[in-house]
Amino acid sequence: MSTPHPHTDLADGGALQEPARGRLADGREILYFFDQPGDGDGFVPPADPRPLPVRPPAAELRRDPLTGEWVSFAAHRQARTHLPPADECPLCPSGHDRPTEIPAVGYDVVVFENRFPSFGPDQRDQVLGDRLGVSHPAHGRCEVIAFGSAHDASFGDLGPERARTVVEAWAQRTAELSTLPGVEQVFAFENRGAQIGVTLHHPHGQIYSYPYIPPRTITQLKQAVTHRERTGRNLMQDVLDFECADGSRIVERTAHFTVFVPFAARMPIEVHIVPHRHVADLAGLTADERDDLAAGYLRLIRAVDALYPTPTPYIAAWFQAPVRHPDAGELRLHLQLTSPRRAQDKLKYLAGSEAAMGAFIGDVTPESTAARLRAALATLDGGAA
Ligand SMILES: [Zn+2]
Repeated sequence: MSTPHPHTDLADGGALQEPARGRLADGREILYFFDQPGDGDGFVPPADPRPLPVRPPAAELRRDPLTGEWVSFAAHRQARTHLPPADECPLCPSGHDRPTEIPAVGYDVVVFENRFPSFGPDQRDQVLGDRLGVSHPAHGRCEVIAFGSAHDASFGDLGPERARTVVEAWAQRTAELSTLPGVEQVFAFENRGAQIGVTLHHPHGQIYSYPYIPPRTITQLKQAVTHRERTGRNLMQDVLDFECADGSRIVERTAHFTVFVPFAARMPIEVHIVPHRHVADLAGLTADERDDLAAGYLRLIRAVDALYPTPTPYIAAWFQAPVRHPDAGELRLHLQLTSPRRAQDKLKYLAGSEAAMGAFIGDVTPESTAARLRAALATLDGGAA
């Protein structure tokens, strides 16, 4: 890492695990994280024996003049692996007769550059234009994070130790990716369930490094700045105080985080995890906070899994402050977990109002979702007692 991450405040001894680093056959970087950091001592990432084609060129970034939003066109992504059977899974460890994306015979947590990226493979500083018809190479970086060797596990099946390693890897990647040229925001997320477009079953997430600030973050920046101008206070702190004072949507409070369903949740299941301390991103958390977050996040995923007898699809999205925006200091790290599931056999589809207008119509009250999640947690705790 060349320069320190601008948001990182590790004065409390929150130094991040340094992964073991290797390269895949086409030059992509692969990083190994360990549940027990000592396990990485002397570990040499195995060579990748596959004959791989050269990496595709950067996708094309085009600007929508009606909204000012950027769209990445990555035609090569059409060739990517789609729901392969278990014996062709690219995220399983390599066997003797079947090399995969991960050359090791087993692993705890692995991060590697996506073979079919929406952004990258290169990172460059570039000024994005605003003329009609303007386009740019979609620089940036897209990484895959595999949560473990077991093909059939889900995040909720991971033990606390593994969940902690995943949090560690997210934080380390945020710190490092934030220093790359042209990267404006680092976004770690997990899509779970074929219903929301997952193309690989093996438990994994992704980490995008965007060359621009995405629309949701721009909206949040505007709201936070307006709130600061009007009240002199930080918006997320006021949201947290409001939710805690009300209490009806609180799912759980841990030492350092509050888990709640937001007042105006847009999806049938929507849960936020907000740190009590104003911190920009996962890299800025102390080691204690990362411990607490890993445990609380795992409990939330298990509670969501307990709502229905079959797996609930979800998107777990880590909102982090942008890397260099002048108002970035107003934004606080938080998780937004959403699911379109509104009943055992019903999914909410984003139809005309939501998809075309961005205007959400809810049919499940946030208070009832919070009550169901609290009950699920109580059942889990009772079952464990
Ligand atoms: Zn697999």
